[in-house]
Amino acid sequence: MNDGEVTMYLCGPTVYNFAHIGNARPAVVFDLLARLLRRSYKLTFARNITDIDDKINAASVETGKPIEEITARFIKAYNDDMGALGVCPPDIEPRATHHVDEMVAMIGKLIEKGSAYEAEGHVLFDVSSNADYGSLSKRDLREMIAGARVEVAPYKKAAQDLVLWKPSTPELPGWDSPWGRGRPGWHIECSAMAEKHLGETIDIHAGGRDLVFPHHENEMAQSSCAHDGAPFARYWLHNGFLSMDQTKMSKSLGNVLLVHDLVKTVPGEVIRLALLSAHYKQPLDWSAETLESARRMLDRLYGAVQGIDVPLDVRAAADVPEALIAALEDDLNSPKAMSVFFGLAKDLNKATDATIKIQLAAQMYACGDLMGLLSSDADAWFAGHVEGEISPSKIEALIEKRNAAKAAGDYAAADAIRDELKALNISIQDGRDGTTWRRS
Ligand code: AMP
Ligand code: ZN
Repeated sequence: MNDGEVTMYLCGPTVYNFAHIGNARPAVVFDLLARLLRRSYKLTFARNITDIDDKINAASVETGKPIEEITARFIKAYNDDMGALGVCPPDIEPRATHHVDEMVAMIGKLIEKGSAYEAEGHVLFDVSSNADYGSLSKRDLREMIAGARVEVAPYKKAAQDLVLWKPSTPELPGWDSPWGRGRPGWHIECSAMAEKHLGETIDIHAGGRDLVFPHHENEMAQSSCAHDGAPFARYWLHNGFLSMDQTKMSKSLGNVLLVHDLVKTVPGEVIRLALLSAHYKQPLDWSAETLESARRMLDRLYGAVQGIDVPLDVRAAADVPEALIAALEDDLNSPKAMSVFFGLAKDLNKATDATIKIQLAAQMYACGDLMGLLSSDADAWFAGHVEGEISPSKIEALIEKRNAAKAAGDYAAADAIRDELKALNISIQDGRDGTTWRRS
């Protein structure tokens, strides 16, 4: 909106548990976008923390731990885990609990403008007051009304009206407001935080596909009504969903892979590259092969630069090839960008002239800085000294656990450990003298 500047808002985590690799996808792909934008613009990037949410309240009841203890723990874990994946901290990390005044003010404004109404301690957004409602998710409000469930909360004028504020019982977190003690709904949290830090209209709003409806549709309706029709976001970017072995990742199916666990045994760059290996908009199916192939790709990149001493001034002067920037500027085509990166590695492997080799290696490091890869020393990479690389003692401990499972007749558990090791490029062989392993 303003020359030379970009504002970007990304819906961040709800902090009641560890992030799984699906949750890491928006953080990683939009980190790449932030890195790209920072080359040419003054970027202000906000990624919020949702620390007011009924799931957090439920986790507090379940564990008997205070809410602040739960949220502080998982905010730290989220930032540590994303850091391990090379995600740079955003410029602003607003927390919902620090913005309740702004939410109350925005809700007050919506009531004043006739877009919201109070009923039994609740405040509801009147969806029919927004002619554009449904335009983001391409839903027809009339169809939504026709398809609405018959059972409607008695305080709602219409089934599709959304909650801006709801009352809290004494044991639940609550804040004083003109409508009594209560707490905000999820959607108004982001509307208020975006307004406070980025203004009425933001350039880019990002998040996962699942957020298009209702979360982003509602954020947009609330914000544009509060701002007399000013556009909320000029561009919307939504990442595709990550599935696991063709199945939706869900706790109830037991196929949730936590970043927190994965980074203990796999270098963060391997996970990052795996997440960037598909175009951000496309679905991404995660399997043992996804990590294996990312690992092989990084071996190729590190293999190309290994043993080449690049003087600091040459490195500082090198830039990313135009073709890689062009790929990223084309709707963040990260697979195409990676193919340019591999092209450089190939050229470097073929080069014989020492100066050219240094130039190409310097260019590869520049690509690495932009993509968030190649940040380790190549010798350390191949020696397995990179943080996250599984150590021999951990491998042996896993083998022992597998053999114990086998001895106990729990073959499913034994196979699961073999698969876990396989995903880390460790193959094992059972022999007469016990089990041996090697990195493949
Ligand atoms: P949550 O903590 O559930 O609010 O989610 C944080 C972010 O992760 C949101 O932008 C979601 O859209 C995104 N997300 C959740 N699950 C997945 C998944 N399986 N694949 C890709 N993105 C996801
Ligand atoms: Zn949001």
